[in-house]
Amino acid sequence: MTRRLSFSLPPTMLFRWLASLLLMLPWQAKAAIDVGALQGELNLSPHVLLLEDSAREFDIEQLLRQGEALEWKSSRQETLNFSFSGSAWWLKLRVENGSAIPVRRLLELAMPLHDYLDGYVVDQQGEIVRHWQTGNRRDFDSRPIAHRTFVLPIHVPAGESRQIFLRLDTHDGLYDATPLYLMDDASFLAKAQRELMAFSLYFGALLALLIYSLLLYLATRERPLLHYVIYLGTFFVLMFSARGFAFQYWWPEMPAFNNQMVPLNIGLFAVTLAFFSDSYLNLRQHAPRLTRVLYGVAGLCLVSALPALFGHYAPVFHLIIPGAILLSCLLLGVAVWRSLCGDTLARIYLVAWSVLLVGITLYFLRVAGLLPYNAVTEYAVQVGSGIEFLLLSLGLAWKINQFKNEKLAAERATLDLQRSLNERLEAQVQQRTQELEKANRQLTTMARTDPLTGLLNRRQFQELMDEELQRRRRSGQPLLFAVMDIDDFKLYNDTYGHHAGDEVLIKVSTLLLDHFRRAGDRLFRLGGEEFGLLLAVDSLEEGQQVLEDFREALQGLRILHETSTHGVITASFGLVACQGCDAVHNVETLYRFADQAMYEAKAHHRNRVVTCTRLKASE
Ligand code: GH3
Ligand code: MG
Ligand code: MG
Repeated sequence: MTRRLSFSLPPTMLFRWLASLLLMLPWQAKAAIDVGALQGELNLSPHVLLLEDSAREFDIEQLLRQGEALEWKSSRQETLNFSFSGSAWWLKLRVENGSAIPVRRLLELAMPLHDYLDGYVVDQQGEIVRHWQTGNRRDFDSRPIAHRTFVLPIHVPAGESRQIFLRLDTHDGLYDATPLYLMDDASFLAKAQRELMAFSLYFGALLALLIYSLLLYLATRERPLLHYVIYLGTFFVLMFSARGFAFQYWWPEMPAFNNQMVPLNIGLFAVTLAFFSDSYLNLRQHAPRLTRVLYGVAGLCLVSALPALFGHYAPVFHLIIPGAILLSCLLLGVAVWRSLCGDTLARIYLVAWSVLLVGITLYFLRVAGLLPYNAVTEYAVQVGSGIEFLLLSLGLAWKINQFKNEKLAAERATLDLQRSLNERLEAQVQQRTQELEKANRQLTTMARTDPLTGLLNRRQFQELMDEELQRRRRSGQPLLFAVMDIDDFKLYNDTYGHHAGDEVLIKVSTLLLDHFRRAGDRLFRLGGEEFGLLLAVDSLEEGQQVLEDFREALQGLRILHETSTHGVITASFGLVACQGCDAVHNVETLYRFADQAMYEAKAHHRNRVVTCTRLKASE
């Protein structure tokens, strides 16, 4: 220290000079810092003297007047930290310029949230040469250098010294660490650039994640993504405010609002965190009651932030800190529980949330003065949150992939179900069609056959015989047709009853079917006990023979008919044969000839076959 004493000083100056001399005494702790040769950043905390002003009774004039009578103490801290303190704190240090040129040095209080900072520079004569009143609760304009932290320019002429007094005070008794640095312009510029680059990377990354997730949400409409965006957005504003950027760039003329933003954002952060955790971990589905508790605690955090709107901060922190701790414990517990249940998303969440929690814990331990101020405690929240949001984003990608797979599986299941339903429907349709075809066939058969005997009916006789006649006309093949009538059937009915008569009709028909089984044979029930027989034979003789065989077979059945001519059921036959069938115009003609022959048989004692060969159209 270079100092020239003058003996021609006026008494007041003399007093001040004596006072300043006292300041230099060894028990007056700190020697002056030579700022002339200062390069890089100098941590001021170990160099300052402290004075606690618990009654807030001092002003700078008093301090200068009372000088060393006050209890100034060495800080003995690497970084000043008053933590929770209702007092105002005065800081004092001396700088001197041992160089031959005047210098400007920058004193930085690197804590953007500090409430009130009054700075005084006192020259060698004890005159206050510079005075600032700034702090986070005063307009941004109050700062001599527009920066997110507080930077005071200290001018020291060549060969002179200066005393610097700082008065620190808070609105609500909550101090954070108070890192103090002294540096030259170039070092400050380098430091500011370094920090700005780190913060730009950090906030840029958060912003990129936020915009990307928002776009992803707009594309997919998955709710967890929206919750993530809101959660991340709230955290972004919280960090931007806490780091002093929001005040500097967004609302520099609204210090009161700026201070309200931090606790309000903490409350909002708790609520958005609850919403996000709920949708991310499907909590409502897994533990509905616990989810309600979670929302309750988050809501309490938000409500407890409300007094900040009216300027009351102490109650806010008394409620919000336990609320936040409770919420964190609940979320941690839930994450551990879900992780143990094998939920992969919960595991990612647990790691992400733990990382952030470690960061926040380190920060609060520093605020409480239990941990020192250093790069780790200073940036723990940033690092923790950066990792957290990246991990959660990864988790969301995993979750969306899961959604997609579930959707695909559901679509596949629907498709399978549709296919099996179609197959079942097709099978049913096929079955119904078969049944319908069968019923149709039955109907057709019923329409074609006689219900009692099962032989072709009269209508079929008409149609089939018509076709047959035409075919024979074309081919020239002979056609042999016979009419058969059961003898004395009326008598049989009269004797044995109508029912027995029906049974005879069935027996006769069965015998007919049994007997005439060639491919071209056709058997008709023409009415009552009268039958028509189209025979698949080539000559009249052959036809006569097969009819004779049948007649005998019928008689051979020996169905008792006491009142008849022959004592048993018999029948009479009239056989007609036409070669080429040119003479036969229609079925009626054919029938008529056969019927006549049959009556001839009746006339000759019945039970016989009469043939007719005289086929002429005129007849
Ligand atoms: P003929 O030897 O001259 O043929 O004498 P018939 O008694 O057999 O002839 P007729 O024409 O006089 O009588 C036919 C009888 O056949 C009259 C009717 O009672 C009987 N009949 C007709 N259809 C059925 C039927 O479906 N069931 C029964 N049980 N009897 C029938
Ligand atoms: Mg008869
Ligand atoms: Mg008859």
